[in-house]
Amino acid sequence: MQYQNSLAFAKQLDQEDSLAFLRNEFHIPRDTKGKEWSYFTGNSLGLQPKTTQKYLQQELDDWANLGVEGHFEAKNPWLHYHEDLSVKMAKIVGAKPIEVTIANTLTVNLHLLMVSFYQPTKTKYKILIESDAFPSDRYAVESQLKFHGFDPAESLVEWKPRNGETLLRIEDLEQIIQNQGDEIALLLIGGLNYYTGQFLDLKKIATIGHSKNCFVGIDLAHGAGNIQPNLNDSNVDFAAWCTYKYLNSGPGSLGGIFIHEKHAYNKDLPRFAGWWNHNKKTRFNMREPFDVMEGAEGWQLSNPPILSMAAIKASLDIFDKIGMDLLREKSIRLTGFMEFLLHQIDSDKINIITPKNPLERGCQISIQVKNADKDLHKKLSQHHIITDWREPDVIRCTPVPMYNSFEEVYEMVSVFKELMNEE
Ligand SMILES: *Cc1c(COP(=O)(O)O)cnc(C)c1O
Repeated sequence: MQYQNSLAFAKQLDQEDSLAFLRNEFHIPRDTKGKEWSYFTGNSLGLQPKTTQKYLQQELDDWANLGVEGHFEAKNPWLHYHEDLSVKMAKIVGAKPIEVTIANTLTVNLHLLMVSFYQPTKTKYKILIESDAFPSDRYAVESQLKFHGFDPAESLVEWKPRNGETLLRIEDLEQIIQNQGDEIALLLIGGLNYYTGQFLDLKKIATIGHSKNCFVGIDLAHGAGNIQPNLNDSNVDFAAWCTYKYLNSGPGSLGGIFIHEKHAYNKDLPRFAGWWNHNKKTRFNMREPFDVMEGAEGWQLSNPPILSMAAIKASLDIFDKIGMDLLREKSIRLTGFMEFLLHQIDSDKINIITPKNPLERGCQISIQVKNADKDLHKKLSQHHIITDWREPDVIRCTPVPMYNSFEEVYEMVSVFKELMNEE
């Protein structure tokens, strides 16, 4: 697409945007005087759909009016509440309904999935992560290693960018697996890196991991609702993500789980159990020996918080109405516009570390600014622009196709340019 560096052009793109109406379906944060913020942190906490309140009210009403009968008699019976969500979520991540469920929260799910897919032996026990893994994932993995009696200093293998580079190269992963694959039990990789915004080739990672019989798991916290990971086709063994980032389901909301169908019917996989991954048909007989459910539901433990599920339903209904194809198409145009404008700034202080190829990134652009400190982030917020600061020198800026406009992107980069020139 040929971009132009003008406000008029940005406005024209908004006019031609068939998804522009969606912005009005979200609450846009405002200051105390009612002025809207330009919100570029949907990668951290997605905005609230205006319908969320109605969905929550429905469950509050059903609880008030029906009490425990709501499990069966609610408008959306609580017992089966997650099933509709699994179908919609499966479409978002490119999976079959049996492969997906919504349960627990992300870090908890990483642990539960490692119970099943990290089965170390004396000789095959290492876990590989990317060097810039999200802290929670690193802590989870290190604690799993220790739990099994291994020393992370020796058994945690890192896939690092080369010296002087910030992005990961797939050929370096290939090399590590060739050299150490026989000792590595599990690859647990952030499919879309939270810091650089790099979207990795999941299918290649799965092929490389499987070539040495390693299990391959993907953290999709920054991918779900952002890019199209085609999880079933990618052949990764499992994945987990949260629903409060691009999936707009509210702070601390529940997580998504993907179990590839090749494992869906394997009841022998080690796992932790609770009544919610026991066979639905006999769950309430209460006396049956544990009979694990097939598919991703086999990793549920507790009966889920319906109020959180209701917020997820409000959001997924919007995703379902629009579809990831259209969202992704707009996303590529919107983020491309931001990148184009940033390149127009004549300053050697700015370095975009996110991949240039739209197929290797999602919405997020990570901008490294020479000699910058958190002050820059503060100045942006004085102009009503919310971005996300990462030490030591990176601003993450995320135009989200659901609710950000081309005009906002233009305004943001104009302010950013001013700040770059005044320093
Ligand atoms: C956001 C995020 C988390 C957060 O985990 P919670 O358990 O939901 O607090 C973990 N890992 C990654 C990669 C994330 O982006």
